[in-house]
Amino acid sequence: MIRKVRSHQTQNEPLIFERSSPGKNGYQLPPLDVPAVDAADALGTANVRHEIEGFPEVSEVEIIRHFTRLSTWNYAIDLGLYPLGSCTMKYNPRLNEFVARIEGLAQAHPYQPEELAQGAMRVQLQLQQYLCEATGMDAITLQPAAGAHGEQTGILLIRAYLESQGDARKKVLIPDSAHGTNPATAAIAGYEVEEIKSNSQGMMDLEALEKAVDESVAALMVTNPNTVGIFEQDITKVAEILHSRGAQLYMDGANMNALVGIARPGDFGVDVMHLNLHKTFSTPHGGGGPGAGPVAVKSHLAPYLPIPRIVEEDGLLHYQYDLEQSIGRVRAYYGNFGVLVRALAYILAHGGDGLRNATIDAVLNANYIRGGIEDRYELPFKAPSMHECVFSDDKQAKLGVKTGDIAKRLIDYGFHPYTVSFPMIVHGALMIEPTETESKQELDLFIDALRSIADEVESDPELVKTAPHTTRIKRVDETRAARRPVLRWKPAVEEKQAAD
Ligand SMILES: *Cc1c(COP(=O)(O)O)cnc(C)c1O
Repeated sequence: MIRKVRSHQTQNEPLIFERSSPGKNGYQLPPLDVPAVDAADALGTANVRHEIEGFPEVSEVEIIRHFTRLSTWNYAIDLGLYPLGSCTMKYNPRLNEFVARIEGLAQAHPYQPEELAQGAMRVQLQLQQYLCEATGMDAITLQPAAGAHGEQTGILLIRAYLESQGDARKKVLIPDSAHGTNPATAAIAGYEVEEIKSNSQGMMDLEALEKAVDESVAALMVTNPNTVGIFEQDITKVAEILHSRGAQLYMDGANMNALVGIARPGDFGVDVMHLNLHKTFSTPHGGGGPGAGPVAVKSHLAPYLPIPRIVEEDGLLHYQYDLEQSIGRVRAYYGNFGVLVRALAYILAHGGDGLRNATIDAVLNANYIRGGIEDRYELPFKAPSMHECVFSDDKQAKLGVKTGDIAKRLIDYGFHPYTVSFPMIVHGALMIEPTETESKQELDLFIDALRSIADEVESDPELVKTAPHTTRIKRVDETRAARRPVLRWKPAVEEKQAAD
């Protein structure tokens, strides 16, 4: 009985404002042993605030419990499998955090003179070299703050390069299996977007591509492996088609988790690509940043990279700004430095063999899950899966249960849902990416959960359609939450007055 009351309390934690009662506080000062001074006299009335209206007054234990209880409402990679496809929610080793907190790195300031920032600059240069090696590209910028920002930078590089050849061209081709940020990027960079269909294998249709590439096409933006988790097996042919007609090949490299140490985009004809360091090279992400989306290029695009560029002269590093062909800055200073440090720590801790093993394990884990549920869920594309696998809810939808219902039921089994209804080319998609960091035991539990839900769909579809049953809030009105977000807390009295 007592347990029940406790969990009820944890799950119904009120706002901190509602816990407030006048005069409570979380500290106690010793009695004054010096004469009291009036703060307004000492500091000037303008600098003294007597009261912050509505400020909650609570004791220390109340505030600690409040935030600790709230933290238990969140699901995190540190709690269990986080199979959100396309997002690469891998475990982030604590070592990276330790390194990012080393004082000289954590306290480095972008206005520090170059001669006092040699170590921080060396971190950037070394990371650039490793990333160029991993991708097979010639040069790289670490400035972009996210994957989508990297895409934009990359397309601007292509535009600058083609302009220097006399014609920026009009169109960017994008397969229907691309990530949604790709068409958005091309449009923002001023290009028309033309879609290339996928074939029944889940790969780009080469014939459609042949037809589409003409003198008006600036580039193809391809996500590889694509958003159905399939490697574009004709990628070298794709590059040849584009290059023979003066167009460039952009690769969205957010899925490099499936390639590092095994295959290099630079070797299969890619001209420019971005990486998501916060995905592939392990930085905690998902809360909206910070991230890093470095853009790597072949040598013909290098002159256009953002400034400043790091150069080494007589053993000293410095930033070069006077590069006439550069597209300019894409971000203040030098990128999200803390993320760059974490990526370098991750690379050095793994070494080449370790990175290759991580890739192999990521692909193995995705295929293990695929094999574990393939007889219960519809698999639309049969080509081998890379780091993620995409199912559809076809079998369950016949009984009135959709991918979103299955995802919500997974919460009752203690897992974060997979990615729901994306990619768009799979109707009712279940997109699952386990990443390399999961053990066989954890994967088996997840497979059991999905198999058990498939049974429930057959025996008691209502149970699944009304899930989750174990959470504080059950189903929220997602449309209303998006259309009418409530972003500011108002005391209940004010709300009542407003209503009156
Ligand atoms: C995550 C992702 C992006 C966008 O990256 P952000 O860092 O979120 O901007 C682009 N493409 C693919 C394939 C992705 O998985």
